[in-house]
Amino acid sequence: MREGNPPETDPPVRKGAPRWIAGVDIGGTNLRAGMVPYGGGEPAAVVSAPTRAGEGAEEVVARVVEMIRASMEAVGAEGGGVAGVGIGAPGPLDRERGIVTETPNLGWREVPLRDMVAERIALAVATENDANCAAYGEWWLGAGRGAERLVGLTLGTGIGGGIVLGGEIYHGASGAAGEAGHMSVHFAGRRCACGSNGCVEAYASGPAIAARAVEGLGTAGDTSLATLVSEDPALVTAEAVCEAATAGDGYARGVLEETARILAVAVANLIHLFNPDVIVIGGGVAAAGDLLFRPLRAEVSRRAFRSAAGACRIVPAELPETAGMIGAAAVLKRMLHGSL
Ligand SMILES: [Zn+2]
Repeated sequence: MREGNPPETDPPVRKGAPRWIAGVDIGGTNLRAGMVPYGGGEPAAVVSAPTRAGEGAEEVVARVVEMIRASMEAVGAEGGGVAGVGIGAPGPLDRERGIVTETPNLGWREVPLRDMVAERIALAVATENDANCAAYGEWWLGAGRGAERLVGLTLGTGIGGGIVLGGEIYHGASGAAGEAGHMSVHFAGRRCACGSNGCVEAYASGPAIAARAVEGLGTAGDTSLATLVSEDPALVTAEAVCEAATAGDGYARGVLEETARILAVAVANLIHLFNPDVIVIGGGVAAAGDLLFRPLRAEVSRRAFRSAAGACRIVPAELPETAGMIGAAAVLKRMLHGSL
């Protein structure tokens, strides 16, 4: 099989040579599947559907398999040419056995995801934590392409993290490495869903940003978010804060700046710990661009050792929608062939 880094162009097509890898992203809200080119590239024929995790793992897996089949058919690969299936799923995984051990997001425990999919589709299947997949996708083809040492953060409903060292995902002793969202930035701080206090996720996840924005409204003065909250408090989301900030709302900008400064504590900790070449930040809030990244970088350079901060690029993700599928495909390819 192929060795070493493939060229940027499509791999040579031999009869029977794999042209695609199915990449699957199982999220708390949506499922997505697409055909990732074997040599690397944006997924083709992406199919998505609501997860509806409450229907149970059997139902969700059946839907995932249908989606993979639909995607294979759309690129004409139902008869062959697919190397296998890579799946990113939330929560800690037993990678050896392909078991999702516990996912509060989906309400699953001890689900043998890998074998359940493999039985239904007769292809090689690899499973990996979703945040690790996002980091690996950005390392393979995105904002951290080829970096020796990369840390990825995804700011969403929670904060996911992934660490890529020397081209491999770093898993740690029990597969829980890279849970950067649960790095505490305040020993007696806000309560986190994990049971601890002061986790960065409790300040800078989407729902936490929205909650902090609403809490501060009492003394906020003139802001469009006050109008929104009087209509319906649920309308104040992290996206609404970003939109208001982009439109020039001073209060919303302040909320984002404070978010950036809190996030900077975690980022500076990661820099001191790993001395990475690049930290890639994705997820909905990263779309705020300079309004987030400028104060973030400024606070990081204030906090981190100069040599370490100087060596580290802090950049927005380049594949915000597809890094999970691409990274999951990369995990499968690495499992089968030992390299990308
Ligand atoms: Zn936590």
